[in-house]
Amino acid sequence: VTRDRARWGWFCDFDGTISENDMIREIMLHFVPEQTAPLIERVNRRELSVRAGVEAMFACIPSRWFDDVRAFAIRQTRIRDGFGLFVEAVTGSGHLLAVTSGGFDFFVEPALAPWRDKLTVYCNRIDASGEFLRVIWPHPCDAACRADCGLCKPSILRRHKPELAKAIVIGDGVTDYQAARLADFVFARSRLLDECRRQGLPHAPFDTFHDILAALDKPAHESVMKEEEHRP
Ligand SMILES: [Zn+2]
Repeated sequence: VTRDRARWGWFCDFDGTISENDMIREIMLHFVPEQTAPLIERVNRRELSVRAGVEAMFACIPSRWFDDVRAFAIRQTRIRDGFGLFVEAVTGSGHLLAVTSGGFDFFVEPALAPWRDKLTVYCNRIDASGEFLRVIWPHPCDAACRADCGLCKPSILRRHKPELAKAIVIGDGVTDYQAARLADFVFARSRLLDECRRQGLPHAPFDTFHDILAALDKPAHESVMKEEEHRP
């Protein structure tokens, strides 16, 4: 098996990437805006870890509202253009396509249902058995990560990397940056794009998944994804 035929791993964020909007933010601002707006600000200013912030936000929502929260989130999700074609192209070539989402199964799974058998999905869960919603984190930080991510994207990438010829990250936010640093190439938009530029990571901007497909279709010598020189 030559290097360019070997399996690549694509690690794709959900909120703000596959979904055009950020569902946790929309849920909070719809159901509990007064309590959670300051928490969102503190997470953005990095005074609070993502894990601690998201736990505190969901703890503001009574469990008896959960059916409404779920219905609202499913209704609000808008899938970015070209995602279906992108799934077919990547998984049709035998590559791994993992959705790494700091979001929750109750809106991620319904949104991905049309392609679910082709994808590996990492996301969080909600326990609605108590008085208020409680977050369950099935994919926490490994020993090499001190960021208190909640769902730890760099840990997931590290675990898969030995089996992959190349790792590619697609994302938009600050939570994607630590995984992007471990990747061979990054497709970025929004704040992740600023960070990739600032830190000089190998990257290309994207607006829709058609842009990523176009980058893959270019001849190897002009592709942003060209293979590095083979060393003897
Ligand atoms: Zn982490």
